Amino acid sequence: MGIRGVLPRQASFPTELQRILRTQSHMSFEALGLAPDILRALADAGYSQPTPIQAQAIPVVLSGRDVMAAAQTGTGKTASFTLPMLQTMLPHANTSTSPARHPVRALILAPTRELAAQVQENVQAYSKYVALRSTVVFGGMSIDPQIAELRKGVEILVATPGRLLDHLQNKSVNLSQVEFLVLDEADRMLDMGFMPDIRRILSHLPTKRRTLLFSATFPEEIKKLCRDFLNNPQTIEVARQNTTAETVTQLAYRVANEQKRRVLVDIVRADPTSQVLVFTNTKIGANKLVRDLERAGISATAIHSDKTQQARIQALDDFKADKVKVMVATDIAARGLDIDELPCVVNFDLPYNAEDYVHRIGRTGRAGASGKAISLVSPEEKRLLTDIEKFIKRELPLESPPLSEVGMESGRQRTRETRKESEEARVESRAALFPPVQPPVTRSITRKREIPALLLPPRQAVGNNGD
Ligand code: AMP
Repeated sequence: MGIRGVLPRQASFPTELQRILRTQSHMSFEALGLAPDILRALADAGYSQPTPIQAQAIPVVLSGRDVMAAAQTGTGKTASFTLPMLQTMLPHANTSTSPARHPVRALILAPTRELAAQVQENVQAYSKYVALRSTVVFGGMSIDPQIAELRKGVEILVATPGRLLDHLQNKSVNLSQVEFLVLDEADRMLDMGFMPDIRRILSHLPTKRRTLLFSATFPEEIKKLCRDFLNNPQTIEVARQNTTAETVTQLAYRVANEQKRRVLVDIVRADPTSQVLVFTNTKIGANKLVRDLERAGISATAIHSDKTQQARIQALDDFKADKVKVMVATDIAARGLDIDELPCVVNFDLPYNAEDYVHRIGRTGRAGASGKAISLVSPEEKRLLTDIEKFIKRELPLESPPLSEVGMESGRQRTRETRKESEEARVESRAALFPPVQPPVTRSITRKREIPALLLPPRQAVGNNGD
């Protein structure tokens, strides 16, 4: 399977999304009035038409209005703010070496290092034929190379809030000429305790600017942020739930805790050609699971916030390059990961927060590709499953996992003969998991736009990721 960086190949352009585009938009990037140099970059990326959020947001941003958009990662939202930003800043494009000719004109704030890096990759791809510079700053890495880069001058700055505050304190960046502010995944920044940082950052920006806020949900605090910092914003909503509903098959397996590892091994072995993203609730659990999978002969890596930035990038790169079969992730680290054509996500633990379920399974079936999300539900986790069902307004009936004869325990001492039997069992279990003719059972996820504060316990502030 092709796991790639950020930009999809034309061939992988999702047929489902194409169908939505055909029925909903009839719009082309040319019709949105984008400049030839931007259109050329989009053609290189293999984009033939705007996604719904792009078709809606680009004209609004070009018209100069603020935007409050209910859209998640996976909808094409990065291009929906980057493209009109580039278009508007084109008159400032220049190849001068003088830093003074390259003030920060656009600031994009993102909650996690991974998301910030991904947004920057996108910005670079879309601006490859335009003489506007961009860079990304986030914590967990030496600040000195970032200072050097900022000193050279950069028009588009992508940042996590904590590290940007360090730069502001250092006076290594000046935000007084910012024309565009993007708050990406605002609800996640709220969850992670970044609101005070964001308010401090905003005090460094000119009040006359365009502000674009993207959030999957709009709890009261986000609405207040919009009232305080957005000027008569246009509200835009895209129904990601429709895309997910039609493309992600959701399964819930009834599995005792002590059986989970074995079932996971079966799931992973069921399709030798595809990779699996596995979620655990704890970093320790993630590390332990990687060790267990490796003992069962399955290559695996972990990504979580206790790892150094370098180790996280390495883990993601290895996974994207197909060097490892399984990546085990915790929620914070995996937020916003853009991994194309990921066919299978497994919830090894059910998330404590029902909303995270939607984010987790959003890692598969991205941009309309088909995917499978399997949750391993122990008796103790039934209550969490009920919370999820309430949140997504769907039932996820518990099924028995198709257990093969191949257990993790027996993996090491298998004789040639039993290995052959195992192979057969694997084929059977694969057939059970990925039935070739049966049409996929799709269950729609109806995403709640607003989560009543009482239903969702406030998540613990996580300070070590966007620092
Ligand atoms: P985002 O929601 O910005 O993270 O984008 C999700 C994925 O969709 C990324 O892999 C983008 O490269 C891809 N994408 C964005 N816009 C388009 C488009 N118009 N056509 C095809 N793919 C797109």
